Amino acid sequence: MQNVIAQIAQILKEEDDFLVTAHENPDGDAIGSMSALAWMLSRLGKNVIAYNESGVPRYLSWLPFPCEVYTDLGDLPFTPRRIIVLDSGSAERTGEAMQRYLHGVASICIDHHLRTPDYADINWIDPEFSAVGEMLAVLADRLAVMLTGPLGEAIYLAIASDTGNFTYGNTSPRTLEIAAEVLRRGLDLESFTARSEANWSLNRVHLWGRLFDNVHLALDGQVAYMTLPESLFNETGTTMEDAEGIVNFLRRIYGVKVAMTLRDLGPERCKISLRTHGALNVQEVAATFGGGGHRNAAGATLNMPMQQAVEAVISILADKLGLDGKQA
Ligand code: 5GP
Ligand code: MN
Repeated sequence: MQNVIAQIAQILKEEDDFLVTAHENPDGDAIGSMSALAWMLSRLGKNVIAYNESGVPRYLSWLPFPCEVYTDLGDLPFTPRRIIVLDSGSAERTGEAMQRYLHGVASICIDHHLRTPDYADINWIDPEFSAVGEMLAVLADRLAVMLTGPLGEAIYLAIASDTGNFTYGNTSPRTLEIAAEVLRRGLDLESFTARSEANWSLNRVHLWGRLFDNVHLALDGQVAYMTLPESLFNETGTTMEDAEGIVNFLRRIYGVKVAMTLRDLGPERCKISLRTHGALNVQEVAATFGGGGHRNAAGATLNMPMQQAVEAVISILADKLGLDGKQA
């Protein structure tokens, strides 16, 4: 692992004209990592641009970038000589256009998902890290770049987002040490929290109220799930983005081992999000549908309507909870 970090550090120092990207429908780790790496490269005096197929979601739009974040590869102001893909467990996760574009350009993948294949020219993949933001903090240390200002803020966002504000099992002493280092370097946590959390619309509160009214339990209360029907977003004047994070609350129900949300992607397509507390590995469940993720948090897109998907996932969970019943 030290070798690949040294190799990446060397490339960052020697090469120029970088493009940083992450998975589509990005979360706090994806956007935080893109911003952090862009800041690191710009501090090293490099040309850098960012790209995300879905753009920056509104709830993360307060995070500063040192460069433009493009959503169309046709708009790039220069041809990148090195693409760095962050937080993407497969090339597909970067979106169709980037997946194609990657074929012609030298690339690096920095990722922390389980079973990420080596799809870039250089691959630093380590599921021991809570977040890609944590990996970038290690890289910054290698490069003697301090975690100050917007770089510190981006690293903190990435890590806080993937650890559920330092509450999930992936939070290690190193995770907390990096957070401490960011604070030591001047992060104003109160202002950070005001920007990152106090940004809900009243419509979003109403959406959550309606969604919480519609939670179902299965398998003797071991599984909690809710569907996110398109109609509810229209009725409450919200978008899919406004449901971000709600799955974590289902995990709070007493006795629940697996929480799931299902998002409507059309009549024959839906996206599942899975969360668990520990012993049961939801990455394996998502992988049976061609998805992936982490032990405790995973997702997949299924080519079936939501109700059929509920049944398909619950039947797999029934097996897993039966087999692993004691530890799960
Ligand atoms: P979420 O449920 O928040 O969308 O995603 C949870 C975790 O699962 C994230 O680490 C995410 O990268 C991963 N994940 C979500 N959807 C997919 C998917 O369709 N394919 C793969 N490989 N991973 C996914
Ligand atoms: Mn991540």
